[in-house]
Amino acid sequence: MKRLSLSFLFATLSFVLFAQTLQSPDQFLGYPLGAKYSRHHRVVEYFKSVAAAKPEMVKVEKYGETNEGRELMVSIIASPDNLKRIESIRLNNLQMAGLAKAGSGLADAPAIVWLSYNVHGNETSSSEAAMKTLFALVDPSNTATKEWLKNTVVIMDPCINPDGRDRYVNWFNSMVGTTPNADPQSREHIEPWPGGRSNHYNFDLNRDWAWQTQVESQQRIKKYNEWMPHVHVDYHEQGYNEPYYFAPAAEPFHEVITPWQRDFQVLIGRNNASYFDKNGWLYFTKERFDLLYPSYGDTYPVYKGAIGMTFEQGGIRSGLAILNKNGDTLTLLDRLNHHYTTGISTIETSSKNQQRLVKEFKQFFEDSKTAKSSEYKTYVLTSKDENKLLSLKKLLSDNGIESGTISNKGFKGFNYFTGKEESFVDEGLHLAVSAYQTNSVLARVLLEPRTKLADSNTYDITAWALPYAYGVKAYAVKEKLDVNTDAVSATAIVAANSNYGLLIPYTSLNSAKLMAELLKKGVKLRYATAPFQYKGKEYGRGTMIVLKTSNAAVNWNAIANDACQKFHVQADAVETGFMDKGMDFGSPDIRVINAAPKVALISGEQSSSLGAGEIWHFFDKQLEYPLTLVNANDLARFNLKNYQVLIIPDGFYRNLTDKPTTDKLKDFVRNGGKLIALESAAEQLSGADWGFKLKENKSEDKGEYAALKKFADQERNALTGSIPGAIYKVDLDNTHPLAFGFPDFYYTLKQDANIFEFMKNGWNVGVLKKESYVTGFSGVKVKAKLKDGLLFGTMGMGAGSVVLLADNPMFRQFWENGKLLFCNAVFLAGQ
Ligand SMILES: [Zn+2]
Repeated sequence: MKRLSLSFLFATLSFVLFAQTLQSPDQFLGYPLGAKYSRHHRVVEYFKSVAAAKPEMVKVEKYGETNEGRELMVSIIASPDNLKRIESIRLNNLQMAGLAKAGSGLADAPAIVWLSYNVHGNETSSSEAAMKTLFALVDPSNTATKEWLKNTVVIMDPCINPDGRDRYVNWFNSMVGTTPNADPQSREHIEPWPGGRSNHYNFDLNRDWAWQTQVESQQRIKKYNEWMPHVHVDYHEQGYNEPYYFAPAAEPFHEVITPWQRDFQVLIGRNNASYFDKNGWLYFTKERFDLLYPSYGDTYPVYKGAIGMTFEQGGIRSGLAILNKNGDTLTLLDRLNHHYTTGISTIETSSKNQQRLVKEFKQFFEDSKTAKSSEYKTYVLTSKDENKLLSLKKLLSDNGIESGTISNKGFKGFNYFTGKEESFVDEGLHLAVSAYQTNSVLARVLLEPRTKLADSNTYDITAWALPYAYGVKAYAVKEKLDVNTDAVSATAIVAANSNYGLLIPYTSLNSAKLMAELLKKGVKLRYATAPFQYKGKEYGRGTMIVLKTSNAAVNWNAIANDACQKFHVQADAVETGFMDKGMDFGSPDIRVINAAPKVALISGEQSSSLGAGEIWHFFDKQLEYPLTLVNANDLARFNLKNYQVLIIPDGFYRNLTDKPTTDKLKDFVRNGGKLIALESAAEQLSGADWGFKLKENKSEDKGEYAALKKFADQERNALTGSIPGAIYKVDLDNTHPLAFGFPDFYYTLKQDANIFEFMKNGWNVGVLKKESYVTGFSGVKVKAKLKDGLLFGTMGMGAGSVVLLADNPMFRQFWENGKLLFCNAVFLAGQ
């Protein structure tokens, strides 16, 4: 007993002693940095051990957990004097931005630099570099960093995407031998599907900053907004044959980006370059990585007043060592040293420019609050549907953007839907956003009706205006309207009690979620395929009718009322099947959904991990409806009879059009199944005689010298056929169930030049007519092609149907209105 307690005491003591000794990453990990990949929990433990050893300089804060339960954390590193007053520094900074009322009024506010690592899980060198950077900041023998920390606070997020990182690291560790193989063909360089880039649901977290559809982003941005740093670096890797990329960024820059934000990028770049030059390391700047799309780890901070930058080391797929095209062997150690160097150099540049950084940060928000340089002073969104406005309000609020109501409605503005200056027409409910507010710049970028492009060669989509994404009528107004931001509570939902049935409107995604919930709980549903009137009230197509009839076995009234509360939809009680106008409930035009359809999604190798992931996440996290993911490789083997709906997402499928697969899929449809094909899956099916065809490109230049093109113009020429993501207006046949809940139009985010010929034996539900381009970059050849064709359609075949969705309504899950279209495809179309 005595022995035991002694040894216990010894163990405790040695732990305390151990915890108080500052260790380098090599000492802590037990191997030299770069010798192998460190799993995520070891990176976190290293940060905690440094915080325990240097509590006067380092704090760690957990800010959340990933889908797979891994810890998300930041570390705050400051001089002992600054760490003592760190809360005053934080509040003072928020006050400068206009985000906190009472700050401490610090005269010597330090610069705040935030370094984010490993957002893409298989760009793995950066979390290793994070450990080295942390040590350099606290290492007593490093006097330079101590000098910089006198006026600079550093915040490090060692890994934004732990699930992705560990997916890669665990896989790589299981593939590599004692000696890494630098041969690019070796299996350790060929990562299997879905790769470690994305998070658990295969979302790209570097496209999710503004939309915050993923738990990692939601939790991180909360933390980010508590700090509002002055400089933000997002660490990445590019292909291993590339050298290093750092700021200044490439054109296009969004026009809201200030001269100072541009200039400081150059200062950072020059200082980084001086270190790289000393070592003979290559790099490039001003190319490829632009500053436009607002949901990146560089642009988002820029639109929030920081200098936001992406740094890219060559390294994807390189494992521990790889032979690149220059005949050099690139190692993990090289990669992490380069990232370490730019991190240290960025902190140095920030420290040397601390006063200017703080001053310009403050100025950015002063200009924001006075709506300086903003053409539009107020944005007013209006809808009959409260839920659409509420979900928009939530997105704005998650981004720190205030919204509210106006009382003056006698104004003119740019009408997003007509593209003209018009008098405001109130749809019944509205939401107003003033440009006179702290986060005015981000508000403007997210809401502006037309993206201005200085240069059209960009890395991502070029249009994202929220009114189009949410399908909400909006006006951009040049005059300042008084916006009252006092909280208005949402309309309360009143229970509807009836012994006969309930009528539930079908007007937004909330209605579709409600429908899924009822089906999941075993309620049999009816829905109207034509409008009708009851007690003087008009009910539109898609209205859900829950009747006691057919539902005797379940507590239908309570289930439906609970679901109405949960999804904020007001139901009406109905006491008879005899309607004032239109069909009665016994009419054949009232459709019945007898049972919850069983849905399968093609996933795995061959499918696009992003495309499949969006649908998986939607079912799992938003719809909360069961979904079976099946591997595309098993398509020939698995039994389709178990499902009513089969979804094929975007992908590069090997066998989708061969005879056995085509026969199997057609059998499935003829026997009553529904096949939903999205994007390239729809394109591939069109090659196998399903009854729909892609439109051919007929606008090719056939002049005598058409083949003669100037070498230097190749990039420009390629742009004429490019459409990185632009908004088009789709004409909808909203009498068809695929378009229930919509007006007779829908705005689509067009990302390719694909368009189908009108179906002769199907329903052309969503089509592009002649003038349907709205905003964003669309090359001249693409513009010429994208008209008079089909984007969304259905076709009956035997007892079943095929639904074709040429564009992805689920894209990054921020195109809120598309989710309703998708639910219609799954639950209503072809029913
Ligand atoms: Zn990346």
